[in-house]
Amino acid sequence: MHDLSPFKSDFAVFSSPDNTELCYLDSAATCLTPKVVAEAMYQYQNFAHANSHKGLYRLSAGATELVEQSRGLVAQFIGADTNELVFTQGTTEGINLVANSFVRPRLSAANNIVISCAEHHANLLPWQRLCRQSGAELRLAPLTPQGLIDVEAFAALLDDNTCFIAVCHISNVLGALNPVEQVCRLAREKSIPVLIDGAQAVSHGPVDVKKIACDFYAFSGHKLYGPVGCGVLFARADLIEVMEPDLLGGGIVEQVSLSETRFIKGPMKFEPGSHNVAAICGLVAAIDYIQAIGWPELLAYMNGLSAYLHQQLADLAFIKPLMPAAPGAWLNSFQCRGVHSHDVAGMLDGDDIAVRAGHHCAQPLHHSLGLKSSVRVSLGLYNGREDIDRLAAGLRNTYQLLA
Ligand code: PLP
Repeated sequence: MHDLSPFKSDFAVFSSPDNTELCYLDSAATCLTPKVVAEAMYQYQNFAHANSHKGLYRLSAGATELVEQSRGLVAQFIGADTNELVFTQGTTEGINLVANSFVRPRLSAANNIVISCAEHHANLLPWQRLCRQSGAELRLAPLTPQGLIDVEAFAALLDDNTCFIAVCHISNVLGALNPVEQVCRLAREKSIPVLIDGAQAVSHGPVDVKKIACDFYAFSGHKLYGPVGCGVLFARADLIEVMEPDLLGGGIVEQVSLSETRFIKGPMKFEPGSHNVAAICGLVAAIDYIQAIGWPELLAYMNGLSAYLHQQLADLAFIKPLMPAAPGAWLNSFQCRGVHSHDVAGMLDGDDIAVRAGHHCAQPLHHSLGLKSSVRVSLGLYNGREDIDRLAAGLRNTYQLLA
């Protein structure tokens, strides 16, 4: 493997005068944008923009066609059918949509909801509030010492009153691929619907929602080299039909009178208002970008790089990972002995190395490990060994100066 990523020149940011030395290690927060994604959005916004699904004129019909074609392409990308694909603003909105439109009407004080203790706040707070409001119980499944959902312990939490399950495919703090297929199998045996938070997993390899056999799968375009402002919720077609939209507005009705409203059928009933067509074009361009590289090549590159990251960090005796580094994890969260995580990030920023410090929107997980914060390093296609070498040097320097 060369020191520089073969994909780095696909990203304009590194050629801007301010960023030639940028070492970006925060892709779990958001991926940088490839030129082809920015170009697709620019082309749409400059030359094809109109309000979709509303106008009868050519430009509007073109925007409608773009959205509906994109729905099919994105659905294909995750093994879903076109009529199961809802465009959202991101993972957060997708999870809230399921909480409010599907779970809330079905939840009573006798019920419980099961999640894991590694959830991002986006996959915790909606369930916490629903449980508070209804009197239902929120159950948190523990992790194995390797940081994965403990399937046996998880199974023990399910009972006849379990109304819903929501777990992450990959934790944004621990980075390991959870056994979501096993979780869904357990759920199916008890007819419990499952949502998978795919925010981190969707860029980590092909996702097939039918193979996972989940009922809902949510992700964000910007964690897949697409833009912020466009995400996806897969929802099983039969569930879409029985769900009522929570967010209301134009474009989602068959008929409205002052006494009665009838919603349209299909995923668009969850997309009130105007579509963010530019962002949808960006998401499709990001998927095209990944498919042009090809999953086998992408995975070979990223897995090689992550092995190098874990090895380099393991060689630093003063670095203590939160959990043993999971093979294949494209991120590593750790403590630097004797130095607060914010100081680590501040020192690294002085060398133009961007890492995340804090609780990463996973406070309960940090608390369960007896911590308030950690440093998180996460990889993207633009990273090469050079970045990891710079990180290791920056950490050595930080430790020598501050510990
Ligand atoms: N879930 C996980 C596991 C995440 O890592 C994130 C973002 O970091 C989210 C949900 C929320 O994603 P977004 O902010 O794009 O809605």
